[in-house]
Amino acid sequence: MGRRRPKKGAAPGVAAQEEEAEPMDLVALKKPMEEILPEEHEVDPTSADYYFDSYAHFGIHEEMLKDTVRTKTYQNVIYENGFLFKDKVVLDVGAGTGILSLFCAKGGAKHVYAVECSLMANTAKEIIQKNGYSDVITVLKGKVEEIELPVQQVDVIISEWMGYFLLFENMLDTVLYARDKWLVPGGVVLPDRTSLHLTAIEDADYKHEKINFWSSVYGFDMSCIKKQAMLEPLVDTVEPNQIVTQTQLIKTMDISNMTPGDVSFSAPFKLVATRNDFIHALVAYFDVSFTKCHKVVGFSTGPRSRPTHWKQTVLYLEDVITICEGEALTGKMSVAPNARNPRDVDIVVEYTFNGKRSQASRRQHFRMR
Ligand code: SAH
Repeated sequence: MGRRRPKKGAAPGVAAQEEEAEPMDLVALKKPMEEILPEEHEVDPTSADYYFDSYAHFGIHEEMLKDTVRTKTYQNVIYENGFLFKDKVVLDVGAGTGILSLFCAKGGAKHVYAVECSLMANTAKEIIQKNGYSDVITVLKGKVEEIELPVQQVDVIISEWMGYFLLFENMLDTVLYARDKWLVPGGVVLPDRTSLHLTAIEDADYKHEKINFWSSVYGFDMSCIKKQAMLEPLVDTVEPNQIVTQTQLIKTMDISNMTPGDVSFSAPFKLVATRNDFIHALVAYFDVSFTKCHKVVGFSTGPRSRPTHWKQTVLYLEDVITICEGEALTGKMSVAPNARNPRDVDIVVEYTFNGKRSQASRRQHFRMR
């Protein structure tokens, strides 16, 4: 999710527009929808469905499935920890194409309930049938918060709920809802641990390209857009050699025990410079781990790790800070779901710097949307 790639959930809107723009004769050459979509589709999905139901489009699933850091970690967790799945009832929260359910079924689960609210649920059903797992996996189309599960309890909850900046889209709430409603006491949530980290980078070129660009656009002053651009965290990859300071752990979440309120938090940070440089931005990223495995497994979305589709989240600072090795940029980061749209995330950064070469003190708001 600059946004050099579609943000999670944005691709289908684009697809819908493309669909509308298609010439009529080309549409006529295509097969009717009912031949393409599974039988359950008595009503064709309209552009509006696709627009509001972004996970219905295969593009976003393709991006996630091709993220091998993500998908192979889940696969390894499941295939190499049979003891967690053998003869267990599993709930897959937000099943998408059904990939995690298929891993679990192949890994020995007694039964898997795959819950998916988008139209992709119909496709997941078809995929599961094609691969011979219809007896083991039941697809339930609907919101986790609204469906009726045919069983009272499940032994394992598996989900890939993480959004940009970990919390964008706020799907963690859905996992916690499922945990509290169906997980057997002592049951397992996968993954069960996640942490958010913060560091600082030199990013003169890209900040110039993204922010200063608006100062003069084909000779016109559009600098009022700068404010909006500064407000939006940028999801993008950061080169390890841009990192100027140490990294600060901001927050750790224990998915098995946390409450929904724990997604709102405030944490202090102290970023000590490891060299003399400028700081243009803070960079946030998260790690995920599966601590209930034989051996703790997980992955990081940090700039020093193998790239994932989550990239990193860049928060540009109003000030350019000139920092010397050993000096520290200190402050506080506050994170909370937006009150009006809880899928968006509000981030407030307060920072102070008192160095040999520069000083700054500021409070900055950001909103992921
Ligand atoms: N498990 C799949 C898909 C992960 S993306 C994979 O790993 O590839 C998350 C999925 O959760 C999306 O398909 C989205 O439509 C679904 N989802 C999000 N919120 C949901 C909810 N409240 N109820 C059911 N499904 C949900």
